[in-house]
Amino acid sequence: MSQIRSVCVLCGSRVGNDPDYAAAAARLGHIIGERGMRLVFGAGSIGLMGVIADAVLEAGGEAIGIIPDFLMRYEIGHKTLTDLVITDSMHDRKRRMFEMADGFVTLPGGLGTLDETFEIVTWKQLRLHSKPIVVLDTGGYWGPLKQLIETTVAGEFAHPATADLITVVDNPEEVLPALEAAPEPKEEVLTSHL
Ligand code: AMP
Repeated sequence: MSQIRSVCVLCGSRVGNDPDYAAAAARLGHIIGERGMRLVFGAGSIGLMGVIADAVLEAGGEAIGIIPDFLMRYEIGHKTLTDLVITDSMHDRKRRMFEMADGFVTLPGGLGTLDETFEIVTWKQLRLHSKPIVVLDTGGYWGPLKQLIETTVAGEFAHPATADLITVVDNPEEVLPALEAAPEPKEEVLTSHL
């Protein structure tokens, strides 16, 4: 059981083609805000990033955005955040997001969301942290992600317990309980040479 106060949400800079994606992001944002928790995210005012930040703030929570200076122009940095951290690089952004969060939630998104999610998962596999990671599988969007991980296990490039590094849930209401209940990573899940 972990104590979650600060949640890093990784999600798309677009809203996607199904209104359920934005609805789920807004619902999760309200849940985080109602509990007075802190959202850590990529600071964009657009896409699911903007949806969840607005919902957290509206419900009374804090939203901390972290963005590299060159992306301020493109991602249209959110103007009414609790705090905005501007970094020199993408790497520094991801490091700061990691440090400020007690746990991570991945919502539907694109390549950037995948990159950020896999970095957090692979750091956990390498024992660099044991923070919980939850994937919100709205409308089955992340089915191929689950399959890809199963493929690495079936191909014996990963331990069968690798799938336990993340918890997949279907509804926003399940996210915080899943973060709290996430198991510690098993020793044997780690890459064999460690
Ligand atoms: P996306 O899922 O592609 O809409 O991107 C979501 C977030 O990931 C945004 O905050 C982007 O800045 C970030 N992002 C986009 N591309 C990359 C990348 N190549 N590496 C790391 N983060 C990225």
